[in-house]
Amino acid sequence: MIMLKGHLDEIFFSIQGEGGEIGLPHLFCRFGGCPLRCIYCDTPRSWNRREQFECHSADGTLLIDNPIAADSVVNILEDLLADYPVSAEKVCLSLTGGEVLEQAEFAVEIAKLWPGDVMLETSGSNAKVFSEVASEFDVISLDWKTPSLMSGELFAEHQQCLEAVAQQKLVAQLKMVLSCQTTAAEVLEMYDFVAQTVPATQIYLQPLTKVPLSPDPPSSEQMLKWLTMGIARQLNVRVLPQVHPLLNAR
Ligand code: SF4
Repeated sequence: MIMLKGHLDEIFFSIQGEGGEIGLPHLFCRFGGCPLRCIYCDTPRSWNRREQFECHSADGTLLIDNPIAADSVVNILEDLLADYPVSAEKVCLSLTGGEVLEQAEFAVEIAKLWPGDVMLETSGSNAKVFSEVASEFDVISLDWKTPSLMSGELFAEHQQCLEAVAQQKLVAQLKMVLSCQTTAAEVLEMYDFVAQTVPATQIYLQPLTKVPLSPDPPSSEQMLKWLTMGIARQLNVRVLPQVHPLLNAR
C-alpha cells in the first residue's frame, strides 16, 4: 500500500493548552504551511514548508526529512509515548498548524492510522475542504478569526464551515482569539451566526497570548462584556486563556 506523504513542522507530546481538551495529554503533529498571517501567530516558522521537521522528546530534538509518509508519522508518535505509562489508544492526537487542511488527504490518512482519538485544529479558512473531510476526525476545533487580527476577511469561509457542521451533524468547538483591538461588533457577528446555525456549539473566547508584534490582550472588563453578550444570547460561551505558556510547556 502506498502511503501519502506530507510536510510537517514539528511533533511533540505535551499537555493540551487550550479549548475543551485543556489539561489532557495530547500528541501534537504540527503541519507545515499556512496561507494566513495572524498577527498573534506564535509559530510563524510553520507558515512555510521546510526540508526537515523537528521531533521533540525528553531526550532532545531530532531533525527528520520532509516529506514523510503517514505510517512513519504514526510510528514516531508511538515511539514518543514509550517513556510514559499510557497507551496510544488513550492519547488524543492533535493535528494542528500551520494549516492542516492544506494537506487534508495526508491528515485523513494519519487519522485513520492513529488508534486513539484525533483532533482537527483548523483556521476555518477553507470551507470546501473542511466540509469534505471534517467527519473523519473525532474532535473538531474551528477558529473564528476576526479582521482586526489578520490581513483579510474570512467571514464567509467561517460561515460555510459552521453550516457544514450543522448539515453533517458534527460536534465542533469554536475558538475566537481576542485582543484589546477586537470590537464588540466582531464578537456579535460571530455570536449571531452561531445562534442561527449551530446554537449548541461550545465557544471559547481566548485572550491572545502576547507575541512581539501583536497587540495587547483584552482587559478583563472587555472580556466580561463580550462574555455576557454571549450568555445573554443563551450561547455556550466561556473565557479560556492558553495555559501551556503558564506551564512552560510547548
Ligand atoms: S492560522 Fe495558525 S499558523 Fe496560520 S498564521 Fe494564523 S495562528 Fe499562525
